[in-house]
Amino acid sequence: MHIDPLSDLARCAVHTITTKPWSLREAAESYFREGIRGITVWLDALKGTTSGAARRILDDNGLTIAALCRGGFFPNKEASLRQNSFDENRDTIDIAAEIGAPLVVLVCGADNSQSLEESRKQIREGIEAILPHAEANRVQLGIEPLHPMYADDRSAINTLREANEMAEYFDSEWVGVTVDVYHLWWDPDLRSEIRRCGENGNLFSFHVCDWRTPTEDLLLDRGVMGEGCINIPEIRSWVEEAGFTGFIEVEIFSTRYWAMDQRNYLKRIVAAYKNYV
Ligand code: ZN
Repeated sequence: MHIDPLSDLARCAVHTITTKPWSLREAAESYFREGIRGITVWLDALKGTTSGAARRILDDNGLTIAALCRGGFFPNKEASLRQNSFDENRDTIDIAAEIGAPLVVLVCGADNSQSLEESRKQIREGIEAILPHAEANRVQLGIEPLHPMYADDRSAINTLREANEMAEYFDSEWVGVTVDVYHLWWDPDLRSEIRRCGENGNLFSFHVCDWRTPTEDLLLDRGVMGEGCINIPEIRSWVEEAGFTGFIEVEIFSTRYWAMDQRNYLKRIVAAYKNYV
């Protein structure tokens, strides 16, 4: 029997933020019904539920949790606020351990009242501060480089090279990198940096969606796979060439799609995953 490599839906995980209007239970039940077996949980989907209850919802629906989103946001000119971020990140690591998430994705943060260099230094200090707690809880930290359009307030880590350098600095099995096609597709060094990431054992997770033209909102106008200009199968092949075998995570923020019937939207995502990932 010919097995279509593009139809490996069992490797697909969906981020709860992708179907933001749904509760965790609605999302879990719907994902499983469509043949999806992985889920990445965003903290906002846990509001109003205990970690124990959340874990049961995922277990009852046969879903494996890929990651918890998200930690990070370390840089701040105010030292006291940097301290607060350490505490918040430790709490997030606790939640990850409680719900069975092996990984916390780090959106590292930036403070535009200081230089990017200073923000990067504070990111390194932040990871240093929370790493013992991550290690003690056996939760990995995935540094996610963000597209440079977010360098002012979301992340001072904007290329895979920078994320690789940061992960290599720590040289810990608990610190690695999250590769997201939306943030990195434009990078001429992407293939070689993905290879480097894999060779160093730092390729922890992989996010997909698409880049719409024109993009009408810098944050909330991501496309479904196949709708934009990102060659996702090519980037996926580089990630797999680098040894990655984990979940392929669909992460889409879109006011346009959140306004749709979420069941129809999820069916569209599944079709797009089969055809364009
Ligand atoms: Zn991502």
